[in-house]
Amino acid sequence: MSASYNGIDLLKYTPNLRRCSMCGLLTHKWEEFADSPQKPKADISTSRDGHKMVSPRFWKIYEENGFFGVNFWPLSSRYYVLFPTRTVEIDPDHYKIMPLKLCKHCGQYEEILVHGKPRLAVGERPIASHEIVRSAMDYGGKSFKGYHVFIGDAVRDILEIKNLSGLSLNKMDPQHS
Ligand SMILES: [Zn+2]
Repeated sequence: MSASYNGIDLLKYTPNLRRCSMCGLLTHKWEEFADSPQKPKADISTSRDGHKMVSPRFWKIYEENGFFGVNFWPLSSRYYVLFPTRTVEIDPDHYKIMPLKLCKHCGQYEEILVHGKPRLAVGERPIASHEIVRSAMDYGGKSFKGYHVFIGDAVRDILEIKNLSGLSLNKMDPQHS
């Protein structure tokens, strides 16, 4: 599942963001306090810092349909940041990544380009029908870097029926057994 950028900067006013002293990249991005009173237009969108943001409507559908696997971080706009708790490994032989500009100080790449369609790595536990997970790795460039969110079949069907705005679905390739 993916969602377009909403222009909101959730880390803009966070004091004392932890950054690498050499390259300036955030070193604890997903642990930093994130908030903004600005309300996204869509039910599902991505902030300028790569956070996946969802509406109260999404949260309600999640609760009512027995979805699982997500920590919802509440925002003052009454929207939420979506943090799936289980991370899955993506098959590196299939979903090609091109990491650019390694910082020797913090070990992070400035940008990670991707090519192809993701599929779960061999031996990774499949995504349950009502489950939502995230990639172990973050992709993209600089401050936009973020994880991919993957959803089970039932989650996909229900979100489609509910016609949530901003939702964009891309099929994963089947896992190698
Ligand atoms: Zn660095």
